[in-house]
Amino acid sequence: MSRSETLFANAQKHIPGGVNSPVRAFRGVGGTPLFFKHAEGAYVIDEDDKRYVDYVGSWGPMILGHAHPEVLEAVRRQLEHGLSYGAPTALESEMAELVCALVPSMDMVRMVSSGTEATMSAIRLARGYTGRDSIVKFEGCYHGHSDSLLVKAGSGALTLGVPSSPGVPAAFAKHTLTLPYNDLGAVERTLAEVGREIACIIVEPVAGNMNCVPPAPGFLEGLRAQCDQHGVVLIFDEVMTGFRVALGGAQAHYGVTPDLSTFGKIVGGGMPVGCFGGKRAIMECIAPLGPVYQAGTLSGNPLAMAAGLTTLKLIGRPGFHRELAEYTGRLLQGLQERADAAGIPFVTTRAGGMFGLYFSGADEIVTFADVMASDAERFKRFFHLMLDGGVYLAPSAFEAGFTSIAHSETELSITLEAAERAFATLAK
Ligand code: PLP
Repeated sequence: MSRSETLFANAQKHIPGGVNSPVRAFRGVGGTPLFFKHAEGAYVIDEDDKRYVDYVGSWGPMILGHAHPEVLEAVRRQLEHGLSYGAPTALESEMAELVCALVPSMDMVRMVSSGTEATMSAIRLARGYTGRDSIVKFEGCYHGHSDSLLVKAGSGALTLGVPSSPGVPAAFAKHTLTLPYNDLGAVERTLAEVGREIACIIVEPVAGNMNCVPPAPGFLEGLRAQCDQHGVVLIFDEVMTGFRVALGGAQAHYGVTPDLSTFGKIVGGGMPVGCFGGKRAIMECIAPLGPVYQAGTLSGNPLAMAAGLTTLKLIGRPGFHRELAEYTGRLLQGLQERADAAGIPFVTTRAGGMFGLYFSGADEIVTFADVMASDAERFKRFFHLMLDGGVYLAPSAFEAGFTSIAHSETELSITLEAAERAFATLAK
C-alpha cells in the first residue's frame, strides 16, 4: 500500500470523503488521490516521494511556481509582526491601490477570504444597487458554492454528476436564470423579456470550470451592450482568469470593461484570499459607506496580503505573461502533434496561462454541449497514464489546466514524453 493510500483510508474516518473539497477525491478519474507533502517550482512531491510536473498549481494561484523564495520571504517577514489584527493595515491600502492600477475596471476593491465570498458579495451588491432580485449565469460556469450560484455550476458539480445541490432552496434557485455560454441570442431574448427584473449577469470571461472554453468573438462585447441597454450590472468572475490571462485579467485581454469583477487565487499568492470591486458608484453601496452589508473577521489578513502583494508585483515584470503564454502554446502544440501522430482525436483550447484538453473530434470547442460531447472516459485513462509518467493534471475532464512561469524546457520534455507514451497506449 502506498502512503497516499494509507493516508486516504485514514482521512475518510473523520473527513467526508477524505477531502476538504470534492474534486480532490479523484472521483472524476478513479483511484486514490495523491497526498502531497511538498511543492517547489513546477513540481509537487507526494508522500511516497514521487515528483510530478504540476499543471494544477493549487487550482490556479501558483502562477510563479510553488514556494517562490520572495513570496515565502514576504510572509516570513510579516509573520514576525503577528498573524491577524482585525483592524486596518497599510498593506491593505497598498493591495487595493495595486489591484486598481492593474485591472482596468476597478475604482474600489474590498478584500475577502475566498472566491466564493467574492462572487456572493458581488451578487448581493448588484441586487442592492439595482433593487432587482434575479440574476443571470451561464451553464457550466462555476462561481463558488453559495446558494444563488450553485445552479448548473461546472467542474466539481459536473464531476459528481449533480448539476445543482440539495440544500439550495428552490426559492433561491428560482432567482437564478441559467443560459447557454457563448449564446448571445439567448441573452438578448431573455433580457428583452425580463430585463427589468435582472440585477446582474455574472460570467467567467473565459469559462474555466467546464474545462476551458474561451469566449466566442463578440460574446463579451454583446453582454456589455445588453447590460447597458437594460440597466443590468455586468460582473466578470475573474477568480480564475484574473492576473493569469493577462496582467489586467480577461477584461484587459479582451478589451471589455465590466461594472464589477471578482478575484481569488493569484491575488492571494496561495493564501486564502478573494476580492471584489469595480465602479465607484456601485462599490459605495457597501457598508459602512452604504446599506449593503458585507464583512469578514480575517478579510485583508496581513500574511495573506503579504503573499498576494508580492505575487502581483513579481508577475508585473515586462514579458511575464508573454512567456507564460508561450510555454502554454508550446505545450499544447506538442500535445496536439503527439495525439495526431497516434491517431487520437484531440482538441485543445487556451487563454494565456490556462488551457483545456479534450478527447474530441470536434473542430473547435465553443459550447457546453461541445464539452459534454468529449470523451471523459478516455481522459480518465490519459490522466492516470500521465500520472505514471510523472505529470499531474487536474483530476477531472471538466477542469482547466494551469501553467506557471517555473515551467521550462525540462518540464516540457517530461510532459511531452509522458504524453507520447500515453497517446500510444490509448491508441492500442
Ligand atoms: N469563481 C471561479 C471562476 C472559480 O473558478 C472558483 C473556484 O475555483 C470560484 C469562483 C470559487 O472560489 P473559491 O474556491 O476560492 O471559493
